[in-house]
This record gives sequence, structure tokens and C-alpha cells, in this order.
Amino acid sequence: MQELYADVIIDISAERLDRTFQYRVPEEMRGQIETGSVVEIPFGAGDRTVRGYVTGLGGETRIPPEKIKDIGRVLTDAADADANLVWLAGWMRQRYGCSMSQALRTVLPVKRRVARRRERYLVPAADEETAAAALEEYKRKHFAARARVLEAVMEEGRLPWSLAADRLSMTAKVAGALEEAGLIRIEEGAEGFAPSSGEDRVSLNEGQEKALRQISAGWETDLAGNFLLYGVTGSGKTEVYMALIEKCIAMGRQAIVLIPEIALTYQTVIRFSHRFGDRVAVMNSRLSEGERCEHMAKARDGRISVMVGPRSALFAPFPNLGLIIVDEEHEPAYESEKSPRYHAREAAFARGEREKAVVVLGSATPSMKAYYMAQHGAIGLVTLPERAGSARMPEVSVVDMRRELREGNRSIVSRELADRLQQTLDAGQQAMLFINRRGYAGFLCCRGCGKVIQCPHCDVSLTWHRDGQMVCHYCGYTQPAVRICPHCGSSHIGTFRAGTEQIEEEVGRLFPKARLLRMDLDSTKGKEGHAKILSAFAEHEADILIGTQMIVKGHDFPDVTLMGILAADLSLHVADYRAAERTFQLLTQAAGRAGRGDVPGHVVIQTYDPEHYSIRAAAAQDYEAFYREELTYREMGGYPPAGTLTAIHLSCPDRELLEKACGYLALFIRGQIRCRGLTVLGPTDEAVAKIQDIYRKVIYIKHADRAVMSSVISMIGRYIAANEGFAPLTVTFEAD
Ligand code: ADP
Ligand code: ZN
Ligand code: ZN
Repeated sequence: MQELYADVIIDISAERLDRTFQYRVPEEMRGQIETGSVVEIPFGAGDRTVRGYVTGLGGETRIPPEKIKDIGRVLTDAADADANLVWLAGWMRQRYGCSMSQALRTVLPVKRRVARRRERYLVPAADEETAAAALEEYKRKHFAARARVLEAVMEEGRLPWSLAADRLSMTAKVAGALEEAGLIRIEEGAEGFAPSSGEDRVSLNEGQEKALRQISAGWETDLAGNFLLYGVTGSGKTEVYMALIEKCIAMGRQAIVLIPEIALTYQTVIRFSHRFGDRVAVMNSRLSEGERCEHMAKARDGRISVMVGPRSALFAPFPNLGLIIVDEEHEPAYESEKSPRYHAREAAFARGEREKAVVVLGSATPSMKAYYMAQHGAIGLVTLPERAGSARMPEVSVVDMRRELREGNRSIVSRELADRLQQTLDAGQQAMLFINRRGYAGFLCCRGCGKVIQCPHCDVSLTWHRDGQMVCHYCGYTQPAVRICPHCGSSHIGTFRAGTEQIEEEVGRLFPKARLLRMDLDSTKGKEGHAKILSAFAEHEADILIGTQMIVKGHDFPDVTLMGILAADLSLHVADYRAAERTFQLLTQAAGRAGRGDVPGHVVIQTYDPEHYSIRAAAAQDYEAFYREELTYREMGGYPPAGTLTAIHLSCPDRELLEKACGYLALFIRGQIRCRGLTVLGPTDEAVAKIQDIYRKVIYIKHADRAVMSSVISMIGRYIAANEGFAPLTVTFEAD
């Protein structure tokens, strides 16, 4: 019988994750050992017994076999948080075709010792009347930061410094000024933020109670289970999450709540803090390395029970995880952009299954994938069809921009939108203008008929290149750029280049008295800027906020009654099979921003393609209609969720080498992998073909069956690993 060897890591403390030691697996232990197993091994010259984690198994040795020692014992009941995370890394390697050390670095972040800082708190120091008078004064003088912080302290009673600094952009200067004015005191203390007494808690409505029961039932089975909680914005999903977390904590288990960074607003954080006091920790990108480690350490040793944060919070080392919530599961931010290109939703399913934790995906516009799974019974479907509060859904009108042009309006602002902006300004309310330019690439669009020049083979738009060619980024098809629209003969054809600045100019020209704020990547250098603009707008320091998708998510502005969506169809023409899905989600969310207070809202969608199903469905706020239509297209093209698709991304500074290697790889896949139903597209340039002098190419492969796809991917992985020609290339697999 062939020998079996295990790679074992002993020191989980990060920098040494690459260092594994090989041990022989004695025959009687085979079958008991897998990636993530905890073992006892003889270590060092004295053969002292130490604990280690198995990170991989194989038949090959890296050192002479006679030097390899035997594993002493498998500790079958010792699976701790680290063992579970090592197991998860093994799952990632398999699923996403990355190396084990890449996977380990993803799930086991570097441990650093940090001096434990005591949290400081802001507490009220003046009586309510004095504070209220000061607040009025600050607001009148436009001391926005002071007003913001003082208001929060008055409301909360005791506000952690870190929260104020992080989510309210409070500087030490602002805190100092408030302290000096005798309005607040700054206290130090280790003990913290007590949960609210529960008196001000809402009691769940019938729908929420039912959702809670359906999901909680998962804990009564051995499989725990995965659920999609589908409910419109404001339907009370967050209240359901909190009730679930409460149950989970009562069972002595812990919970992870994933929220896209951009939606981690002050309101969200404070809601969780209120409910769970200092049993909750919030991760975000502004924490220092040391602070992150401290949060992770708290999770490991039981000082907290709830971890809230973006994607990477999924790897909180809780010893007895009971619940994982993925809020706004449709967000693209859940997909990692570097290898391993894991999707948090999928990794959550994997971790949940291993640790018997319930997984809940929440969304108002579920991803095609999640809804498909729910429709096919792969995950439970739980719905909250109605809004919990009093706010009504906004009214939506769709403006055909081709008609605007025909009727002589060349402005990027339609007549209807201009009229409504005027009314909004007259009423002293606020408006947001959202320019949908996600994934913006230079495609050619006809302003006469709204059509976009598409690839004859792929149903995605051709990308315009400076050299006058149009290229398909899926199959490589190339043709010279057209000057006359092939559909209607119009010569009004060009790339759509309007950005936030041009819109700001145009709106400024139309409404010279309006106060404008602009938010895009340029205007928000540093995350400070981001929060500042939003809170200035929230305090009504401007009438119109103009921005990209950043302005759409997670913020509540009660005075906003008008949302204008410019170039709604721009994101339809991105060379991506998910373009319609992204468009529908963005438009639906943008529409949901208007009229969240007592005044009903209005949404104006400007488009060159008013008949497109994703625009019609978004205007009608009809998710089901969108899903049905989109699924038909996915089924026809064999795209996920109806089939599986993997993108193999290859990059290298040496263009020739890259092209050669890609050629060989495509040849290998087409020729060697004899597999019925496997479609190979490419190699072709990536949408951005070169970044910082590194050339990038991509090969897509499609197959109906996920199991087949997995074996194909591992064959490709082995081929790449075995061929030195690929060594200078960076290769990552992006699974759907
Ligand atoms: P979602 O997460 O689905 O957007 P939230 O949980 O944030 O919804 O709820 C939206 C609003 O409705 C919040 O202001 C919340 O306090 C309120 N709300 C939620 N559930 C109830 C309830 N059962 N009774 C009264 N108000 C509720
Ligand atoms: Zn045309
Ligand atoms: Zn093509």
C-alpha cells in the first residue's frame, strides 16, 4: 500500500503559515485524518509531543522518507476554532484553485500583540436644556461636526470614542471643543457599552415572527440549514437578524454578521451596539492591524459573541459558531478580488455546514444565484413582503432619452427631471442624482436609437479601443469602430463619457442657486471625505447630492424626496453576463432611497433603453418579473445559475510569454480535457488589458455540471503547477 503523508503546521501565528512539516500517516489513522484535523506529533530533536493542524495530504515526500516521523495521535474531539479555519482554507484551495498558503493567509490573519487600549467614552456633562441650546447654536453656525457628535451623545448617553471617530468623523479637536464648552465629559473605562434595557425594542410583527420561527427551526436539526431572507428595504430584516442573534447567544453560541463596508453606517453600528452592548465588535477597513487582531482575539477567547463586519469578518475564530448572516448578499463586494477569489456567501455556506451554524442571506434584490437556489429547494426561502414602518414605496417615472434628443433637448438632464428638481428645491426638500457608471468601459452607444454595438457572438457590448478597433472581451472578436449607427443610420454615435463633474456643471447651470455636493472617487480622497460629505448632506447643508453608486447604499436621508437616475442603462453594456442583474439591483436600490421619511418620494429613471426588462422591472419594483426574464437568458446561454462558469485570469509583465502560455493553456483545455459539454471561450484580453505594465488575459470555461467543473479546474491547476512555463505568470481562478 502506498504511503500517505500529512503536512502539518504547528505554529498558527501567521508569518510561519508557509512552514509545514511532513509526517507519515500510520495505516490505522487513515480515514480519520483530513485537512483541519488536530494531531499530536513528535517534534524537534527531543521528540517532544506538540499539537499541530493537518493542512494537506499526499503521497509524495519532500525529504528522504526515512527521516519522516509518524503522527502520534489524531485528536478527534479537539476541533477548535483554528482547526475549523484550517479546514475552511482546505475547502478554499479545492474550490478556488489557490495554494494552501494563500488560503491559510486569508482565513488566519496575522496575529500581532497589541497593547490593549482602554476605550474612551463621551458622556453628557450639561443638563438637557443647555445641551439642546448649544446644539441649536452649532447647527445655526454650521458647526456640523460638533452638532453631529453632541446630538449622538445626547441620544446615546454614553458613546464610545472609537465609534464617534469612525462613523461620525469626529476629530480630537471636535471632542476637545465640546469638552471645553462643558457639554461633554471624556471618560476612560474598560467596561463598556451596556445593551439597552429592551423597553424601546420593537415587538416583531407577524411576518417577522414567522421568519424567526422558520429560520430558528434550523437549529433543531443536525444540518442547521441555509436560508434566504427576501424582503424589501424597510421590511424589518435587521430586526429579524437581531432576534436570531439573541437566540443564538442564549444557546451559548456566537454569531457573525456580514455587511458590505459601504453599508456599515453609524445607524447600523449603533443599532447592534444598543442591542448587544460590548458583546459585539465591529470590524471595518479603518481599524489598524493591531485593532483587528484584538477583535479577533476577543472572538477567540469569548469576550464577544457577535462580530459585525465586511467579508473578512467571516473568519472570526469563534469556538462555537451558531449563526452567520450575510446582509445584502447580492453585493459584488462579497467577492474577493485577489486570490483566492472566494465569495463570502459560498464560504459562509461551507463554514456553516462544517460548524453546524445556521446561515441567513438577506436581500431586497436577491442575487440570481441565491434566488435560484431558493426556488430549487437548495436553501430555505423566507419572505417579508411588506414594509414594517410607515414609509411608502416611491413613484417611478421612466424618461426615454432618445425622445429628448429628437425633441431638441441635448442636455443630460431631461425636461421632466429638471421640472421635478425645481419643485423639490421650491419645497425646500432634497434630491439625489445618481449616475450609474459601474464598471464603466468605453463602448459605443447611439444617442439616436439607444443601441449599443455588440459582439455578434457573445451578446455583450464591444469595447472601444483608442486605436479605432472594437473588441469583444469574452471571445476576442474585433472589428473597426463604426461611425454610423448600423441600426438607425444616425451619426450621433460615440462613447458615453458624462461623469459626475459634467453633471455638476450642468445642474449648476440649470439651478444656479441650488447648493450642490458631489461624491465620487475623486471627491472622497480618504474615507474621511466620504463620511463628511454624507453627513453634510444629511444635515441639509446642500440641496442636491450628485454621485456614483457610493451614494445609493445604506444611507437614510429623510428629506430626500427625489432621486434622479442618469444613464440608467449604462451598466447594461458592461462586458459581463451579470450586467442586467447588476443594473436591476442598482436601480431598485437607488429608487428605494427616495421618500423614506413622511413625504412620499419620486424617482426619475433616464434611459436610452426604456423597454429593457431590467429597467422595466426596476421601475415597477418587481423582482419576480426580472428574475423570470433573466433566468431565461441565463438558461439559453448556459450561464450561472443555470450552469457553471469559471474565469481563469492570467497576468504577466511579459506580453509574449503571457500570450504563449495562454495559447498552450487553451490548447490543453480544448485538446486534453475530453469532456462533453465543456465550452472554452478565449483567451482574450481582460476588460482592462494592462494595469501598471502588467498584461492581463482571461479564459472562460462553461459546463452545466458543477462536479465536472471542479474536476476540470483541478486538472487545469495541476497542469499549470507542473509546467515551468507558467511560473512567471499569476494565475487565479474565479468561480461563479
Ligand atoms: P430592513 O433591514 O429590512 O431594511 P429594518 O429592520 O431596518 O428593515 O426596519 C426598517 C424600519 O422599520 C426600522 O426603522 C425599524 O425600526 C422599523 N421596524 C422594523 N420592524 C418593526 C416592527 N415590528 N414594528 C415597528 N417598527 C419596525
Ligand atoms: Zn442608432
Ligand atoms: Zn464575443
